[in-house]
Amino acid sequence: MSSQPNQLAEQLQWTSKRVAQLQESQTLAMAARSRALTEQGFEIINLSLGEPDFDTPAHIQEAACQAIHDNFSRYTPVAGYPDLRQAVVRKMDQDLQWQVRPEQVIFSTGAKQSLINVLMAVLNPGDEVLLPAPYWVSYTGMIQMAEAQAVVLPSTAESGYKVTAETLEAAITPRTRMLLYSSPCNPSGAVLQKTELEAWAVMLRKYPNILVVSDEIYEHIRFQGQHCSMAQCEGMAARTVIVNGMSKGFAMTGWRLGYAVAPLEVANACVKLQGQFTSATCSIAQRAALAALSGPMDDTHRMCDAFRQRRDLAIAETANLPGWDCPVPDGAFYLFPNISYWFGAIWQGEPIGNAERMTEFLLEEARVATVSGEAFGSPDCIRLSIACSEDNIKNAIARIRLAFQNSLSQNPLDSRP
Ligand code: PMP
Ligand code: GLU
Repeated sequence: MSSQPNQLAEQLQWTSKRVAQLQESQTLAMAARSRALTEQGFEIINLSLGEPDFDTPAHIQEAACQAIHDNFSRYTPVAGYPDLRQAVVRKMDQDLQWQVRPEQVIFSTGAKQSLINVLMAVLNPGDEVLLPAPYWVSYTGMIQMAEAQAVVLPSTAESGYKVTAETLEAAITPRTRMLLYSSPCNPSGAVLQKTELEAWAVMLRKYPNILVVSDEIYEHIRFQGQHCSMAQCEGMAARTVIVNGMSKGFAMTGWRLGYAVAPLEVANACVKLQGQFTSATCSIAQRAALAALSGPMDDTHRMCDAFRQRRDLAIAETANLPGWDCPVPDGAFYLFPNISYWFGAIWQGEPIGNAERMTEFLLEEARVATVSGEAFGSPDCIRLSIACSEDNIKNAIARIRLAFQNSLSQNPLDSRP
């Protein structure tokens, strides 16, 4: 057989423009890099990936084992088992006094899939999505896949990384179709208070064609007050989608379980999409999720207490770290310092210059893996996950301090005018 067709095939470019243009997930990329270096024998402290280091609570594990023995081994309804959807209906009623129908609840393979389902279900090419920054890393990639346009609205540490209703309103155009944010926020840890959500709602009521997508996956990792949602604000329930999941509050990242609660039309569209993509999420994981959503919350509260302690430790340890401007996070499990003070400092013959190079510097000189704020729409910052042991937090910060002292401090420091 001639080898010509094979040669031709090797020369062709097979991947779509869609994928060629897509940014790789920076959190996952850094986590993979850190893992590879560890395998090569380097002692890396990996603060790149945000995932609880706790085990899934025992009663959830047991429910999964029981589900295996009980032969929950078949395809499930696309949106999930009816009793699981009902558990979310109850949760929405109890926690947010929001009455929804089971048909409005769709379970998916992680909140990540819930998000892409909603974006693909709602957005048309050219639609605009208001994206307060810093935003979670995958939102922009997902918006891009939906062929829509992200309209990024920067915020500062001084404002607690929150944008005002006026800022949002100034960015609205006839093409604006969606507002997308997380609260508690990954990466900043900012938590929108009821009054702040109300102020957004007052403005949004003037623009009934904007759908709000509220990512509440960190609802249980919150260090003060009660969890609030846009769905509770007057006139907003009918056009709010809540995205949530089991990964963070129940330490179930690997189980891949998320859900959306959406207006019926959007929910039906998500079911249609999911029916073509994944059929449904795993049957065993769904039975485990039922135990999580309807069982005791002691383990979740214990984990949240541990995250609070780690936050306090990390803030205390970084208090006098030079060139480190970090608001105290009210939720989630990240530090998101502004490190632009160091951009003028010379490393390997060149100014540090930007946050991505700072993450390179920290990986090489401190052996600490972090993620550049660029990936979250805040190019002056870096993100560190503190969902790890207190020893790791202390050691990582000690290493960063040493690296700043030994490799940067003798250089010109502040590049800003
Ligand atoms: N939203 C935010 C804000 C997140 O931090 C994460 C974490 N991966 C997700 C969504 C997706 O979570 P998962 O797919 O693990 O449920
Ligand atoms: N939510 C985590 C993070 O932001 C997991 C990584 C991911 O899903 O991209 O690090």
